[in-house]
Amino acid sequence: MHQLAMTQRAQQFQQEPIFEVSERGNRVIVIERESGDWEAGCKASINGIKARLQQGLASKQRVVSNHAPEIALECTLYLSNKCNLRCRYCYSRDVRNVKENGETMSLDMLKKVVPAVLSMNWKAVNFFLYGGEPLLDPNLVTDAISLIHHENTHYRKRVSFSIETNGTLFTPENIAIIVAADVHVGVSMDGPPAIQNRNRPTKEGRSSYDMVVHGLNLLQQMRIPFSITATIVQPCDLESVFDYLLRFQWTPFIRLSPMLPEGNALQITSNQSCNTSQEALASAHLRVVDRMLANNRYSHFKVHCGNIASMVNNLVTDMRPDFCLKSPCGAGYGMIEFHPNGDIVTCDKTYYRSELGVLGKINDIEHPRDLQSLYDTSPLRRMIASRTVDTITLCKDCAFKRFCGGGCSLGSYLKFGTFAREDVLCEYRKRMFEGLLWRLQDNPYNALLLMKPWLFSQGVSL
Ligand code: SF4
Ligand code: SF4
Repeated sequence: MHQLAMTQRAQQFQQEPIFEVSERGNRVIVIERESGDWEAGCKASINGIKARLQQGLASKQRVVSNHAPEIALECTLYLSNKCNLRCRYCYSRDVRNVKENGETMSLDMLKKVVPAVLSMNWKAVNFFLYGGEPLLDPNLVTDAISLIHHENTHYRKRVSFSIETNGTLFTPENIAIIVAADVHVGVSMDGPPAIQNRNRPTKEGRSSYDMVVHGLNLLQQMRIPFSITATIVQPCDLESVFDYLLRFQWTPFIRLSPMLPEGNALQITSNQSCNTSQEALASAHLRVVDRMLANNRYSHFKVHCGNIASMVNNLVTDMRPDFCLKSPCGAGYGMIEFHPNGDIVTCDKTYYRSELGVLGKINDIEHPRDLQSLYDTSPLRRMIASRTVDTITLCKDCAFKRFCGGGCSLGSYLKFGTFAREDVLCEYRKRMFEGLLWRLQDNPYNALLLMKPWLFSQGVSL
């Protein structure tokens, strides 16, 4: 029977298993590289672990499909390029010009975009309302949502809405609009006043902290659930940002996203006393994970950090909901974005590299149904879709490839000038996945404490 299981398994992966071993003291974690199955144990049991992995008896996960058809299309509508802030890491290279004189998406443009998106093959569409700053024109937010609902009476797709805002322009009136339309609210905010004001000044160069805090207070008073995404410019900020978010308890839902070196961010020079290496970034992030575990175990205020939860998810399940942690990444399949001038791209991170071009222009589409064939045949999208962990030289031999997915297509392009290489933050990702694996083997509850901490709110003893 074991022989049969081994034969089926060898056929499934078309090769002999390849084991990667991480050792700490007397403990080992063994990963079967091609499947992503892993198991931990003591050193003396390593042969038994390998045998179980080989026979499929120790499976922790199996990546069946990254792109199941029932997964929703992620559609971002950049309602306006204009913004009242001048974040120093903005991806836009010509940030002052774009944010000052940028365009706003017209209603006519929306009327072309929305039916075309709804007629694509996906059964569900998650609409993201982005900018610039989308709340500079709340009426446009309302118009876009009304139009989508109106058109969808014909297409009958499952739709959801999210808005990402810098949080400085909330009023009771625009919050009421958001609530009425059942829109998930994401606020970009970098934490303590010194970091927020340094990273995200107003266009006049003034502090934005008090404006955001005013907005967060309003959201709390009106009992609106929301998430906060903090961009981490340098590793030495990470722990103080986390401590701030934990102390102020604006929301349990946070993301701590390392900055991508693109656009304005290329000009940033870090504090000289800060170690900016990827090793330092991973160490700081893993220290935050330890604090989060301790907090989620003992505190009533449990924190869910989206990007950590996604990594843990990839270590313990076969689902790949995070578009930046799948192979190919979402820029290759499952994402589409529209800019106010009608440009169509898959991921905005590729948009600011003009030499990459775009998928097309919405004005060039005669019939809504033509968007799907434009998407299917776009050379840029197909090139990114062909970028998988099994085609990238370094990734295909990486112990963590089934968890990482090869990382960001644009991150590869930025560093190496090609999509065919590993992520710009590859070393950080390796250290994160290995560090998380060790934390998961420490305590079987740790995965849930990071992915679904609210399950422990009833005081389960660990
Ligand atoms: S980007 Fe780095 S960590 Fe990710 S799969 Fe490739 S080699 Fe591994
Ligand atoms: S290009 Fe980068 S940011 Fe865009 S979907 Fe892919 S991984 Fe995510």
